[in-house]
Amino acid sequence: MGLPDSFLMDRAARIVSQGRVAVLTGAGISVDSGIPDFRSPGGLWTRFSPEEYCTIEAFRDDPVKVWELFFELGRMLGDAKPNAGHLALARLEQQKLVTGVVTQNIDGLHQAAGSKNVIEFHGSGARLACMTCGRVEPSRPVSEVPRCPCGQVMKPDVVLFGEMIPPDALRESRRLARDAACCLVCGTSAQVYPAAAIPRDAQYGGAEIIEVNLKPTGLTGSVTTVFLEGSTTEILPELARLALERA
Ligand SMILES: [Zn+2]
Repeated sequence: MGLPDSFLMDRAARIVSQGRVAVLTGAGISVDSGIPDFRSPGGLWTRFSPEEYCTIEAFRDDPVKVWELFFELGRMLGDAKPNAGHLALARLEQQKLVTGVVTQNIDGLHQAAGSKNVIEFHGSGARLACMTCGRVEPSRPVSEVPRCPCGQVMKPDVVLFGEMIPPDALRESRRLARDAACCLVCGTSAQVYPAAAIPRDAQYGGAEIIEVNLKPTGLTGSVTTVFLEGSTTEILPELARLALERA
């Protein structure tokens, strides 16, 4: 696909080089790690209907059935490695330009790339949780439905439809957005609350919004300052390189 116009890349790099960059990521950043967007053709939702498999009611009614989806998810996430986009964001955090990453993904790839301040809106597939006694443990490859010592079926610590976004994640992300001089939106259209609030909160606080997406979104032309059209895997490493040259 290639890089956007060098004028746009330079403009974005100048903003990023000033620091206090809050990042928001979505499914688009992990596609090149082999995790298809759940909504895309071949994605999970074409094989498992979200209503039937991914609501908290479905899990309460029949956790063993919903584990068919979780096994599939585990296979998908188990093989995935961070790509150049994740690594570029981690490098920008190490160099003190990025203050944190808010992600809608559950794949743990930001942490695997070396990012430290990662706020997970939808929880993490790397943990199992018990909805009855509250026990949380690291997930492990399982071939049978895992049970808690209390007897209940455990659930990956991810937010299913009908569940609340973790309040700590909400609070932390809004603080990050308010304190930001730049909000870097990567691989997400950010149309659904609470992700949608991040660029808008940041802009309200005076931040410039940079967007890296394959296609224009609802943010483009309204809140976005610089729109970089293309793949996060290609654009983010170059953006990081240019910003670090200036910083
Ligand atoms: Zn339990």
